Amino acid sequence: MENETETVCRVCGHDGYEVFWEDGWPTAEICSCCGNESDVGDNGVLGVRGYRGYWVGQGAPWRSPSAERKRKSEGWDLLRQLANIPPRWR
Ligand SMILES: [Zn+2]
Repeated sequence: MENETETVCRVCGHDGYEVFWEDGWPTAEICSCCGNESDVGDNGVLGVRGYRGYWVGQGAPWRSPSAERKRKSEGWDLLRQLANIPPRWR
């Protein structure tokens, strides 16, 4: 068990205001980018990779249109965001 707060999505690397995991426990927060709910698609690295592959295969759709508009206006780049994924979840 880790003592840490995870704000970077394990699936898509999105780093927003959400906290997905706290001290090793899922918060059930839903990522505004890929739509993953912590503990549903991201409990275990194989689940993470599976969900990520599915999400990218769909064209990497944003769950939240307002977050999408904001990030895209700031020059959002999918590959740059994916590079943000913590190494153990790649
Ligand atoms: Zn995500």
